[in-house]
Amino acid sequence: MRIDIITIFPEMVEPYTNGSILGRAQKSKKVTIKTHQLRKWTSDKHNTVDDKPFGGGPGMVMKIEPFDKALKSLKLGKKSRVILTSARGKEFTHADAKRLAKYDRLVFLCGRYEGVDERVAEHLADEELSIGPYVLTGGELAAMVMTDAVVRHIPGVLGKSESLEEVHGSFPQYTRPDVYKKWKVPSVLLSGDHKKIEEWRKGK
Ligand code: SAM
Repeated sequence: MRIDIITIFPEMVEPYTNGSILGRAQKSKKVTIKTHQLRKWTSDKHNTVDDKPFGGGPGMVMKIEPFDKALKSLKLGKKSRVILTSARGKEFTHADAKRLAKYDRLVFLCGRYEGVDERVAEHLADEELSIGPYVLTGGELAAMVMTDAVVRHIPGVLGKSESLEEVHGSFPQYTRPDVYKKWKVPSVLLSGDHKKIEEWRKGK
């Protein structure tokens, strides 16, 4: 899989996508994550990516043209999905992460300012996704969150022990010491009885 993240702040995204599990997944060629400076697809001397909103109002709106040119230059194939990060989009879930992991290529478009010209959602993006019911300053965090959750579903990215949650759902975890300041680990987890442990985890 290849993931492209289009942003005016690639330097915010790269340390995250090059570290830890995402970095390891890239080194082992399970995924390639490229960030692109949107300003590369502007033609004026100030590399302008925003303009005033039609109809008036505060702030600036991101222009459609740089996004359009960026997507053209990526030469996307059929098994690609273009995702616009948006506070107004459908809320991203675990099921979306699994679904998106089946594409060969994902492109995340990161908005800033007051948002992105609506024609990007209407004509360029395949879907609009939000990571939660709050407004962020930009789409970079949303693109990183979704990239992280998707990459975990690519076969071979997680080790056996790391993939437990994807299989069984999330449950509370503890590690040593078994008693800390009188706070004890549930005794079932120390019992060695794997059937009971599994039942306990399912009930959580
Ligand atoms: N009215 C805008 C909108 O509909 O998203 C809010 C603009 S927000 C200040 C700037 C950018 O941050 C958005 O264009 C979007 O890319 C991103 N963003 C903000 N909140 C988000 C959220 N909850 N999920 C995903 N992206 C978000």
